[in-house]
Amino acid sequence: MIRLVFALAGMFMAFAISAQPCATPQEPLLERTDANKKEMIPVQRGALKYIPMTFHLVANESGSGRVTEESVLYQIASLNEQYGDQESIFYIDRFNYFDNDAVYNTPRSGAANVQMKLRRDNNSINLFIVNAIESTGPGQTLAYYDPQEDWLVSRKGQINGSSSTLAHEVGHFFSLAHPFSGWDCNPFDIPPYSNPVALTHTIPCDGGGGSVLIELHDRSNCNTAGDRICDTPEDYNLGLFWQDDCAENNSVKDINGDVIKPMTNNYMSYYNECASYEFTTTQKNLMNTDFFTFQRAYIRTGNVPNTTPVTDPVEYIFPINGQSAGGTNNILLDWEDTPGANTYLVIYDRFQSFTFNPQKAIVTSSEYLITEDLAEDATYYWKVWPYNESQTGAGYSATQNFKASLGTAVNDIREITGHTLSPNPVSGLDKSILTLSATKNIEGTLDVMSATGQRLSSQRVSVLSGISQIEVETSGLTGGLYFVVLHTQQGTLVERLLVVD
Ligand SMILES: [Zn+2]
Repeated sequence: MIRLVFALAGMFMAFAISAQPCATPQEPLLERTDANKKEMIPVQRGALKYIPMTFHLVANESGSGRVTEESVLYQIASLNEQYGDQESIFYIDRFNYFDNDAVYNTPRSGAANVQMKLRRDNNSINLFIVNAIESTGPGQTLAYYDPQEDWLVSRKGQINGSSSTLAHEVGHFFSLAHPFSGWDCNPFDIPPYSNPVALTHTIPCDGGGGSVLIELHDRSNCNTAGDRICDTPEDYNLGLFWQDDCAENNSVKDINGDVIKPMTNNYMSYYNECASYEFTTTQKNLMNTDFFTFQRAYIRTGNVPNTTPVTDPVEYIFPINGQSAGGTNNILLDWEDTPGANTYLVIYDRFQSFTFNPQKAIVTSSEYLITEDLAEDATYYWKVWPYNESQTGAGYSATQNFKASLGTAVNDIREITGHTLSPNPVSGLDKSILTLSATKNIEGTLDVMSATGQRLSSQRVSVLSGISQIEVETSGLTGGLYFVVLHTQQGTLVERLLVVD
């Protein structure tokens, strides 16, 4: 639940908001709703819609203040739950990181628009996650859908596993208007509307627009008033100022004297503290219809994301339980492949609370190489969050810890008694040879990793008892530092490799 303070006409009113004021213009949505109503394609069981999303994690120009990856992963899981009964599966196209003050604080400005256009993805829903949004009406703007640019913008505080803001904005993206459409700028109050309401049309916004036919409780004008959807009842936007909870209205009456009955727990309305929120059947069918319009062809890529649930905790291999990592750099954090996962968020830090100077990485293999120098004899904590592009809610598995000490290297392979990597440095046109002497046959994989810990190549290898040699392919590598990692059941061996152009 989010607490906000509204400034209105010099008066401060405190409200608890969970269905949020958004700055989405309604007119284009009403037009799309009218068009979609004529060609309805109802949600069909088993006809899954795969919906790619690009998450723009925006920071200020000093690179700070960015929404956390953890918040985004929880948000995706939550969105998939909220749309779970619509055969919709939202998945990560990619995370895009950039630093820009205009986008971060004033995403509706011209300067921001230029930057956002440069970074938009052309085959997914773009969501820009920012610090602040310029206000356009009563209350604080938390998020909006821009029908012109066809992208979503949200304040970072709304991106988490419990907010309904993104579900609301995605509803706009797929053509839904507010059930209280027309009451956005001037929600019900006495004055100016009187009770029973004495007007037939809502009071326009300051700019003159936004006056619409007032929807009646008797359903007689539901096709042309409000959101023009008949199974969302009349809603005079009571949630914004008139009431601050999810309760049923018993006092406000329409022009006929009928008590209005807004659906307070509708995702597209503004009522707070509802136990849960819903879309109506027609809203779901309209969103489904919108997905199949030609305007939405650009997100219907035909890509099928991995949808295998990721539920098992990570099984950590090394270094764990306070053991020595065998050094202060080139430490390979290693864990078993987690069923269903193809990506891992890894974090390590000197504090168990991960608040000292946490370092994070997203990797696609079940290992991560720490290449920076760690503090000698210090204890480090690490944990891993396994996920795939559509199943992101597992959270971090239990925290592990190790000592960055120069003591006996626990990650040596006891069965390997000697090793050399030569030539080293090596030309990028050449190859380097890893020569090993072993006391028994060992099976493993040989990875080449970048200095930032990304796996560049991987090959299965057999190390034979006695002397064996393995070619390390370096062609195509640009000049710089790399790590050659031999990964076996008996342990891990890491060698630095310098490539010169
Ligand atoms: Zn809205």
